[in-house]
Amino acid sequence: MTVKEIFETMDYGPAPESAAEALAWLAEHSDGFGHFIDGSFTKPGAGFDSRNPANGEVLATLTQATPADVDSAVAAARAAQGKWSKLGGPGRARHLYALARLLQKHARLFAVLETLDNGKPIRESRDIDVPLAQRHFYYHAGMAQLMEKTQPGREAMGVCGQIIPWNFPLLMLSWKIAPALAMGNTVVLKPAEYTSLTALLFADICRQAGLPKGVVNIVTGDGDVGRMIVDADVDKIAFTGSTEVGRAIREATAGSGKSLTLELGGKSPYIVFEDADLDSAVEGLVDAIWFNGGQVCCAGSRLLVQEGVSEDFYRRLRRRMDGLRVGDPLDKCIDIGAIVDPVQRDSIARMVDSNTEGETYRAAATLPASGCYYPPTLITGLSPASTLMQDEIFGPVLVGTTFRTPSEAVELANNTRYGLAASVWSENINVALDMAPKLVAGVVWVNGTNMLDAAAGFGGMRESGFGREGGWEGLTAYTRPTGKPKPLSKIEAFTGDKGPEDGIDRTAKLYIGGKQARPDGGYSRGVYSKSGTLLGQVPIANRKDIRNAVEAAHGAKGWPAATAHLRAQVLYYLGENLSARAEEFAKRLDQMTGNRTGVKEVEAAVDRLFTYAAWADKLDGDVRAVPLRGVALAMREPVGVIGVLCPDEAPLLGLVSVMAPAIAMGNRVVLAASEPFPLAATDFYQVLETSDVPAGVVNILTGNHAELAPTLAAHADVNAVWSFSSTDLAATIERGAAGNLKRTWVNNGQSRDWMGEEGEGQTFLDAATEIKTVWVPYGA
Ligand code: NAD
Ligand code: MN
Repeated sequence: MTVKEIFETMDYGPAPESAAEALAWLAEHSDGFGHFIDGSFTKPGAGFDSRNPANGEVLATLTQATPADVDSAVAAARAAQGKWSKLGGPGRARHLYALARLLQKHARLFAVLETLDNGKPIRESRDIDVPLAQRHFYYHAGMAQLMEKTQPGREAMGVCGQIIPWNFPLLMLSWKIAPALAMGNTVVLKPAEYTSLTALLFADICRQAGLPKGVVNIVTGDGDVGRMIVDADVDKIAFTGSTEVGRAIREATAGSGKSLTLELGGKSPYIVFEDADLDSAVEGLVDAIWFNGGQVCCAGSRLLVQEGVSEDFYRRLRRRMDGLRVGDPLDKCIDIGAIVDPVQRDSIARMVDSNTEGETYRAAATLPASGCYYPPTLITGLSPASTLMQDEIFGPVLVGTTFRTPSEAVELANNTRYGLAASVWSENINVALDMAPKLVAGVVWVNGTNMLDAAAGFGGMRESGFGREGGWEGLTAYTRPTGKPKPLSKIEAFTGDKGPEDGIDRTAKLYIGGKQARPDGGYSRGVYSKSGTLLGQVPIANRKDIRNAVEAAHGAKGWPAATAHLRAQVLYYLGENLSARAEEFAKRLDQMTGNRTGVKEVEAAVDRLFTYAAWADKLDGDVRAVPLRGVALAMREPVGVIGVLCPDEAPLLGLVSVMAPAIAMGNRVVLAASEPFPLAATDFYQVLETSDVPAGVVNILTGNHAELAPTLAAHADVNAVWSFSSTDLAATIERGAAGNLKRTWVNNGQSRDWMGEEGEGQTFLDAATEIKTVWVPYGA
């Protein structure tokens, strides 16, 4: 071709990146890779091949871990953990800096190896995956350095089992390993079976960096090995992958006391308003859905475009799609590389081929004659309920539909069981910033997409999982309060056969939707004093009562929308009104429990209401300095409807200690009162009634915790369940919560000192809120 011809066609010549160095590294391991356990590689055993999806060639053979391998990895991590933690933040920071520097030094080797193994374009692995992985280690080296000052009263969880997917192999490894190590944990990580090579290279780097042995352990294999890690003697499981497997892990770990974070799938909306800069929105969309061939959990895979501009937008989009170059991932001028594996490609094809609705447009791109590729595809005109609008395709396939008004856009956007990310495109700041809080998503990008950074929390709502990675909030997943918790034994109610002291029979009701309500089942039980006199009767609530209470809570939509100032006032008012009746409550508590701590308990409860009244308008979000054009706002949002099994041992203070932070942050609650001593809760109805608490914000049930817990845990409209009951309900609640992946906070049969420091503070405020990261353009 002459220069003139090239100039006329404007075609790209091939610009291949050399694979020589990566292949040489692989050649050093031509007899196969073992696991990385306790600082060295094990002898390769029976296993499987790792292939390059661009040409089907075998890159390496890997070992499938056996139960004994996983055991020895966990044992190595366990043995190393105490010393690693005691090394202290600054000491660990040195190691993390060293890892970050070595990742930089070998950046190209990592990028090429990633591209060979995964099929993603070298442009992406070189410019995005690897730099972000380095950034994660630098950022968390800083977090280690600052730990003693910024995380007082918290310590490492212990040994963390970490399981990651194949779409960002090195980056997901960094997201998992860097914060864990920074906080003093040790890890056993399993990369995905299609893409284990950069994890093994990372293991090599750990050796070079002189990381103490056992701090990082890497075992390879498939889902069976993942299951072994989940079942192993680890303190925490951090999982990134499909919602289906995440749910299975939630069930498998239920009641085990293992802490769990899940980063799962998504079907994230990409919303284009008619006043958007359409060409920028098209460019953004290319990044949203064709970055990594759409194999991105937060891919903008659901296009919602405003009707007035939809034809114009689709036209520009199709033209842009036709310009996309699909091909050899090692070619520096390639936009879209190979799909990770034929299994994944076939699954994409199957989903697209089974669709009979709408219009399917495939980009004009020529695909390589061999290798694992799929063309950029756009499907428009689907109904909101169609499978392809609801289910994750995890490939280069965009589905699109139109909307008329902003409120319709919100409705369509939130019409999904997921809640990972969302993009909003509009040149009108009012429209864009009005949308952001209304979208159910852990991450919102304004006039942007797929922006990620170590300083900005990343994670989902709903079935996209729970927990955040990155930022301050990411650290809570890798730390726990210091100190040894004491077991909590079941507190039994007193029984008796004497009538009431004054001869008057008092029967309480339930408190639902701001009214005292008769129980559905019509059963009640007597509450007796220690000496056996009848103090009153309380209803035994059933599942129907729970459903009514949840419905009432859902109906109280004004509460999360109210100002924090107003919520503070309501809490002050509650405190004031409880204080006015302090004597009466104190007496009641003493009668029920047979203790003489009533006066102190009421005082503490009043104080707690004032404390959370104070917090209501002070638990601010913050602004993160990200190395991109713009800032990331970390906004605190209420979790939604929270069901709580209240502490049995502190009938009033316990109820107030869970209710106050929850409602201060804008949640609505369904509270199951102390089971043995419920009368302080039923007396509290009147305090609620006289304190301007809107109907439905606080609902209170009495009854048997073990009977109420499964219904609360399984209820699709409950967003979180907490249990501080003296009945150990951890397993019931965590298993039941797997259905809609609601957040759980359970005591695992351990006690809490409600009068002291443990009874209030940041832990409660964190549990009552979720961080939404909103990326907005800012500055140059
Ligand atoms: P996957 O859930 O099948 O596998 C993920 C990992 O879990 C792999 O390492 C796999 O070996 C392991 N695994 C499989 N079964 C297991 C089991 N029963 N117990 C324990 N471990 C098991 O997911 P995938 O197909 O590899 O990845 C694609 C999915 O991951 C998509 O749904 C995507 O949305 C999601 N993803 C989410 C994020 C996020 O941050 N939210 C990031 C990347 C990918
Ligand atoms: Mn591979």
